[in-house]
Amino acid sequence: MKKFYIETFGCQMNAHDSEKVIVTLTGEGYSQVATPDEADLVLYNTCSIRDKAEQKVYARLQDFKKRKDKIVGVLGCVAQQEGEKIFERAPHVGLVAGSASYNLLPQMLVQIEAGNRRVTGLSLDTDDTFEVPYTKRDNPHKAFLTIIEGCSKSCAYCVVPMTRGPERSRTSASVFEEARNLVADGYSEITLLGQNVNSYRDPSEAGLDFATLLREIGEIDGLKRVRFTTSHPRDFVKEIVDAIDSNPVLCNHIHLPVQSGSTAVLDRMQRLYTRDEYLRQIEWMKNAKREITITSDIIVGFPGETEADFESTLRLLDEVEYDAIFSFKYSQRPNTPALQYADHMTEEEKSRRLTIVQEHQRQIQIPRNAAYIGRVEEVLVDGYNKATQQWLGKNTQHKTIAFGHAVMPAPKDDGTTLEGSYLNVRVTRSGPNSLSGEAVV
Ligand code: SF4
Repeated sequence: MKKFYIETFGCQMNAHDSEKVIVTLTGEGYSQVATPDEADLVLYNTCSIRDKAEQKVYARLQDFKKRKDKIVGVLGCVAQQEGEKIFERAPHVGLVAGSASYNLLPQMLVQIEAGNRRVTGLSLDTDDTFEVPYTKRDNPHKAFLTIIEGCSKSCAYCVVPMTRGPERSRTSASVFEEARNLVADGYSEITLLGQNVNSYRDPSEAGLDFATLLREIGEIDGLKRVRFTTSHPRDFVKEIVDAIDSNPVLCNHIHLPVQSGSTAVLDRMQRLYTRDEYLRQIEWMKNAKREITITSDIIVGFPGETEADFESTLRLLDEVEYDAIFSFKYSQRPNTPALQYADHMTEEEKSRRLTIVQEHQRQIQIPRNAAYIGRVEEVLVDGYNKATQQWLGKNTQHKTIAFGHAVMPAPKDDGTTLEGSYLNVRVTRSGPNSLSGEAVV
């Protein structure tokens, strides 16, 4: 039996794509192995959102320069972005395929097995979404479920529309079927995935929008939690918040990337919303009956970002009081509109702004997390940290809580574990990025 190894870089979409690739390969008679050394086929599912991520992949490829016994494949965003240029830079690579072509993987494998040493899958013309009848998930309790692929926006800094193709939604019937199958297989938490998950539009006659799809998934018997990521402010409507308000199965956490607090910068980024429009959406969440945690993405140092623009971002953090942010320095990406801007910033200045933004947010998180002390939170247990001898779980608001358990302080040798169970935990301590406590037993 042929053996394959796969390593995944980047976002949850990539992580879930890898799960689907694994199922496809296994269905074609391959078996997965834990190290590249054991494998005949070594695959890297890549991310090109930032230059650093891309360089990491090329560094990995170097390891196989002299290993003629292996076929090395580059999948994902770097594959789509660089295409056949990868063969020039890394001549030992045998397969280059973007995510829009994964449904053709079985045919590509046939070509590889027939001895073709340069196989590509780079078409973005597909109307298909990459669906497999049953997808292997890494976690036995929590599953990703793709509802929409690709992106039809054109943010000035982003390669995704070029690497993942235009938006393509799945029919609601196929989404419901997969969700029900997951519940039947024991999964209790589902995360609906899409580059812009809330741009979902059911292509079948039913024509459901995202808020309605969300409501209906929340009604599936046996499902305990539903999450979704990532949302785009342009398509974010109040009905999504109303849906969360109406059903506790829908987790009360919304990740809504703002990128900048300055309308002028948002305009140059081609984000299609203003600071005020974004803040109106935040108001819907703050006025909800349930306590919704809000997280976001921030880019600092976008070309032309003045000191006043940057200050506007800091003021926005104060106004929203996010529970967490993911912040990045702007990184130039090939073929993106932002490359044409004249006023690019030095790396040094970008780093200075990143440090300020992160410290600013840290100060916001300290009191926000401290407010949890004394509260009892229901967590889905995710794992066990041997170093701290604590269990780890997430509450509905996506906050990780580390905790002790008086009856089962650690997983047992016979495999008995708390993983996958829902437990109440009293929070006793907090930090800027952490909560910890004791299970209520
Ligand atoms: S919405 Fe913008 S940032 Fe998000 S994937 Fe599309 S182009 Fe990229």
